[in-house]
Amino acid sequence: MKNARQLLEKELKAALAELADLEKRLEVKGDYGLGIGDPNIIQWELNLALRDRVARKVEDIKKALERLDKGEYGVCEACGKPIEEGRLELLPYTTLCSKCAQLRR
Ligand SMILES: [Zn+2]
Repeated sequence: MKNARQLLEKELKAALAELADLEKRLEVKGDYGLGIGDPNIIQWELNLALRDRVARKVEDIKKALERLDKGEYGVCEACGKPIEEGRLELLPYTTLCSKCAQLRR
């Protein structure tokens, strides 16, 4: 993919902004112990789960950029075959081809 770096850097920027936003929201913690099932606490927990997911995505994107530098980008980490172009367009930071990704699920 020709514009992989551009795409990855854009994704990284968006993911980092999302992460910062979630961190900010996580600073405001609902008062635990007061009523289980409080919507504020549920929202807080959702944000926490989301934060972990976005943090993982940031790591994946950084890894993909490193692989780009090493000339390994677009190669499946598991089987060493090229990752499908269409898959990279949808998930520019993926490290697995669709076959291997399915096997890991
Ligand atoms: Zn593979």
